[in-house]
Amino acid sequence: MRIVLVGPPGAGKGTQAAFLAKNLSIPHISTGDLFRANISQGTELGKQAKAFMDAGDLVPDEVTIGMAKDRMEQPDAVHGFLLDGFPRNVSQAEALDVMLQAAGMKLDAVLDLEVEEDEVVKRIAGRRICRNDSAHVFHVTYAPPRAEGVCDTCGGELYQRGDDSEDTVRNRLEVYHTQTEPIIDYYKAQGLLVTIPALGEVSDVTKRAMDALQK
Ligand SMILES: [Zn+2]
Repeated sequence: MRIVLVGPPGAGKGTQAAFLAKNLSIPHISTGDLFRANISQGTELGKQAKAFMDAGDLVPDEVTIGMAKDRMEQPDAVHGFLLDGFPRNVSQAEALDVMLQAAGMKLDAVLDLEVEEDEVVKRIAGRRICRNDSAHVFHVTYAPPRAEGVCDTCGGELYQRGDDSEDTVRNRLEVYHTQTEPIIDYYKAQGLLVTIPALGEVSDVTKRAMDALQK
């Protein structure tokens, strides 16, 4: 199965991708991992990506597409893969189609994790992390600590990461709307889109996704 996973920040995409890839016995290919692997291995594409990242610029599509192509040609991806974070705009989606076509392959489904925008903001902006251990995570509404601002586990001070502030989250959602959401229409037109609600327990969402994919 060749699947693309899309969804706004805060939809739990990374978590779902890992579970789905395991259930379907296909590799989980995330852009973040691709960048890290190419940079640490010092590949030509990795060097190019690093130069842009060091300058604070976005990595151009050609570089990302090149890394994705190399990864999809690895032996473990012969029978399928789950793409996470790629394509992130229509031009990357078109490049992916060209790439697959040239290899005599096509996508089987594009899984869209749907969440309410206000819910995403509430989920992320309410997150509080312990200064002693980033694995001690609380939420002001869904998992409040016993004492406000204090970690239940170790007594450390709880804080909100800069990335989690409401303004930052709204900005990331805005970028998602303008750049990534058009690919949803692009794949809908190809009859590949499968939309599932991404709210609730992680395992319920995985089950919903598996059921939808098996149809
Ligand atoms: Zn703690």
